[in-house]
Amino acid sequence: MKITSVETFAVEGLNQPLMFCAIKTDQGIVGYSEFGEGRLAQGMKGLVRDLSNQLLGEDPRAVEAHYIQMIRSTRMAYGGATWQAIAGIELALWDIKAKALEIPVYELLGGPTRSHQRVYWSHMLSYQVRSYEKLGTKPVRSYDDIREVVAQASEMGYDTFKTNIQMPGDPFVSLAQGRSGPHDQTLTTGILNAAVKQMEVIRDEVGPDMGICLDVNEHFKADGQIRLAQALEPFNLTWMELDNLDAPSVRMVKDATTTPICTGEQRLGPTSYRDLFELRAMDVCKVDVQWQGLIPARRVANMAEVYDINIAPHNFNGHLSTFQTMNLCASVTNIKISESDPVQVPWRDELVTNLPVIEQGLVSIPQDPGWGTNLNEKALKKYAAKS
Ligand SMILES: [Mg+2]
Repeated sequence: MKITSVETFAVEGLNQPLMFCAIKTDQGIVGYSEFGEGRLAQGMKGLVRDLSNQLLGEDPRAVEAHYIQMIRSTRMAYGGATWQAIAGIELALWDIKAKALEIPVYELLGGPTRSHQRVYWSHMLSYQVRSYEKLGTKPVRSYDDIREVVAQASEMGYDTFKTNIQMPGDPFVSLAQGRSGPHDQTLTTGILNAAVKQMEVIRDEVGPDMGICLDVNEHFKADGQIRLAQALEPFNLTWMELDNLDAPSVRMVKDATTTPICTGEQRLGPTSYRDLFELRAMDVCKVDVQWQGLIPARRVANMAEVYDINIAPHNFNGHLSTFQTMNLCASVTNIKISESDPVQVPWRDELVTNLPVIEQGLVSIPQDPGWGTNLNEKALKKYAAKS
């Protein structure tokens, strides 16, 4: 079997393009992946095109060998977007290999380790606050509106959701929203009070048993992360999630609060996670398959097992991303809970041939060969990102 072409697609998404890769072979098997950061769509496409030069004409099934060759041959542009593009290719190679054997990817990795995976509703409120026009929902203008939105989680059978800080206004503004983060990553009294008020309202609405996660991304330095985590202790969060590349600072945050700390999504590959593990800096380890590929994501998951930590796969954007993530979940035994975005652009369903089956907050582990779904290339082109 030989690789005949490598193609990428950027599809219009809710807040950034959804990125896909298709690798075609001379035997008619096509491998698909969803990968990378859509805000860098043109860069991703260019990187995949550059990397594909070393793959054309090669047998796609030696996935590990191709992966390490791509990593080593790009050592002068280590990590970051380079590795996200490598992930796009590596993930599509796994799809080809498993389809050639007519088995799901997790079967290649000793799975399935489970029949279902529990997921949380992600970007709860955040998408409704920032993208109501695209979603066709009503804007969030009051704390009563917030109650109405978060009540959907239990109505849809989820037992956990994740949100961001929403700043009061008419309409509210999500702190997840691009440049709306505080200047100099400073936790102001206004933001702190808004976060506490939001959690008071949400906890009162959803009751004591609903799991609530709060993602503060890179918005605060460690001192702000500490003050916020301490202030939110009464609300018994499942975790506060943060992006902070300084592992000793994350350990300081963890030591200063009873609120569990989740981090890691920015990191790619086990070497990059090592300081977080060695410092025991996190309670829950975030791992993104789409950003780093299956080989490194699985190595990180196995490393987390060594340090007695469960991972929480990072998974938003399109459905193929969910299929890929479920194959990771079905090949390891240390998942706390996985991420799911029930809300996205209305054409998301058209992009795949199979939809993920999600009932009562549980995703069925896919059974079809490869990741468990194909992409609909006509739809990928129909909804191509405009820029
Ligand atoms: Mg996050």
